[in-house]
Amino acid sequence: RAKEQGGDAYQFYTKSMNERVLERMLLENSLRQAIDNNELVIHYQPLIDGTTGRTVGVEALVRWLHPERGLIQPMEFIPLAEETGLIVPIGEWVLRTACAQNKAWQDAGYPPVVMAVNLSGRQFRQPDFTGRISKVLAATGLAPEYLELEITESIALEDVEYTIAILKELGAMGIGIAIDDFGTGYSSLSYLKRFPITTLKIDRIFVQDAAKSQQDAAIISAIILLAHNLNLKVVAEGVETPEQRLLLRERHCNMMQGFLFSRPLPAEQVASLFDFCW
Ligand code: C2E
Ligand code: MG
Ligand code: MG
Ligand code: MG
Repeated sequence: RAKEQGGDAYQFYTKSMNERVLERMLLENSLRQAIDNNELVIHYQPLIDGTTGRTVGVEALVRWLHPERGLIQPMEFIPLAEETGLIVPIGEWVLRTACAQNKAWQDAGYPPVVMAVNLSGRQFRQPDFTGRISKVLAATGLAPEYLELEITESIALEDVEYTIAILKELGAMGIGIAIDDFGTGYSSLSYLKRFPITTLKIDRIFVQDAAKSQQDAAIISAIILLAHNLNLKVVAEGVETPEQRLLLRERHCNMMQGFLFSRPLPAEQVASLFDFCW
């Protein structure tokens, strides 16, 4: 009967279900070995000072160089890594590698930059999280003021008391804390005064149309004012056009990040931009 009513569609459905399950298993298995096989790579994207045009930071963005599939973007494997718990070793690897890289740049005589590292919820809630962070800093020799950890609103709001305690410890260590993708989460403003953070990162959906949309421009102005009144720095994500840069500069946005300045690049390539002024 199913066949009569469109057997092809039915068959296609079951086949693709099986395929998807199989593909997921294969992907999970190969992701398990990705660290040991040295298949993970980090690309670094510059954060540009809004006033001076200099690179003052970089964000570490992980990629997976799969032996058969080529370069896989984080959106295609971070969700699986989060589901399976593999995000914990992957996140630790990213943190350690990014801190070591930043120290190596400093030792090589480049102007110092802040290294921004994304955290997943599972990592943030690991036992002795702050102890792990200080071990990485000690092992790599990176000074804490050159590390900034990025968490999203949803990670921060899952357990507010825990978040406050951890952020206080990180702050006391001298590490910066940024709220990533700001404006897209729960956007509960009351937590902003309770969380000891240093930076807000405006999500790129607001930046995208800011030069065309009065509403988006108004939201950006409001976020920048709010941040400055709370003594926080602001980064705008996803800056792609000179018009967006101008609008952000006029509103005194502290830092900008986006394809207008640079795509995320391998370590060797990004370092050559540290002396450059946009
Ligand atoms: P995110 O932390 O918000 O990172 C910014 C994303 O915006 C990056 O995508 C970056 O390549 C992209 N981007 C930067 N400038 C522009 C622009 O001008 N235009 C457009 N269209 N996009 C721009 P990417 O590298 O694909 O990373 C996506 C997300 O994956 C990140 O979003 C972050 O949530 C996650 N991620 C990446 N690396 C890690 C990691 O090491 N650990 C964890 N937990 N998550 C990570
Ligand atoms: Mg980020
Ligand atoms: Mg972001
Ligand atoms: Mg984002």
